[in-house]
Amino acid sequence: MALLEVKDLSVTFARRDGGADAPSVTVVDKVSFSLEAGATLGIVGESGSGKSQTVMALLGLLAGNGRASGEALYRGENLLTMKPAALNRIRGSRIGMVFQDPMTSLNPFLTIERQMTETLELHRGASRREARKLAIEALERVRIPDAARRIGMYPHEFSGGMRQRVLIAAALMMEPDVLIADEPTTALDVTVQAQIIELLRELNRENGTAIVLITHDMGVVAELCDDAMVMYAGRTVERASVRELFGRPLHPYTTGLLGALPRLDMPLDQPMQTIPGNPPMPGRIGAGCAFAPRCASAMARCHEARPTLETIGERVRACHLPVESLYGVPA
Ligand code: SF4
Repeated sequence: MALLEVKDLSVTFARRDGGADAPSVTVVDKVSFSLEAGATLGIVGESGSGKSQTVMALLGLLAGNGRASGEALYRGENLLTMKPAALNRIRGSRIGMVFQDPMTSLNPFLTIERQMTETLELHRGASRREARKLAIEALERVRIPDAARRIGMYPHEFSGGMRQRVLIAAALMMEPDVLIADEPTTALDVTVQAQIIELLRELNRENGTAIVLITHDMGVVAELCDDAMVMYAGRTVERASVRELFGRPLHPYTTGLLGALPRLDMPLDQPMQTIPGNPPMPGRIGAGCAFAPRCASAMARCHEARPTLETIGERVRACHLPVESLYGVPA
């Protein structure tokens, strides 16, 4: 049994402005994936692709007007229908989460010690003394220097990279089965980004913690993940092993994301490739492929019918373009 099995997960938001009869907006549309113990999955796409709402739904963290449907089975139990108290026990304990901006995840009025030990006392019944010892050990593991002294400090006394390390330490102190990291390096400079990715890789390797990494950055996926799922306008457009996805992308959007990656061997005067246009607004997606207005390979059919997910070997993709036309041979 997979550790986490998500089946046909959809997320809709009721429009706050339109009264009870106003149609709701779908931001995640029948997304499925599974995660084995110790695996690493990157969920990648531009802002508004639905990747963050997918994991927010799993953890019961949608805004008040949001509703999730489908199934999200953690060790066989559906997180979407779980009672709040049971979900609370799993969240933060079996499934840890690290968000993009460490400053908004840490309470500026509480010391790092109080913020870290509270979870251990609550979920594990640890005494204050035991919890402090474990918290210091966790900070040392993520290489916070002089952890025994710094644990008494407040978040503003830490740099951005150190705050992110504190959050990772707080999540890992609970020894979760799964760590969900939502853009964990976006707010950090490049050197610190590399350190955080290395830290996540180490934790996956040494503790066997499965990682779901939410990112818009294909480079980060390549560094950390075994598998990747590409999302666009709330849907999965391609899912494959990172090796296959980078070697032979089967969807024009994946190709566009890969083409936009900076390369060291690129001449300095060569402009960076970009995907023209912007993703569609949720609720404003026509009948055809949501990527059609930006796709250089779009055909008449693409504007009329939305492609469904097809399985090709071990991978899936949603595109009308025959694979043969991409590579001359079947995938
Ligand atoms: Fe492009 Fe058509 Fe494929 Fe959509 S279905 S990605 S528009 S080729």
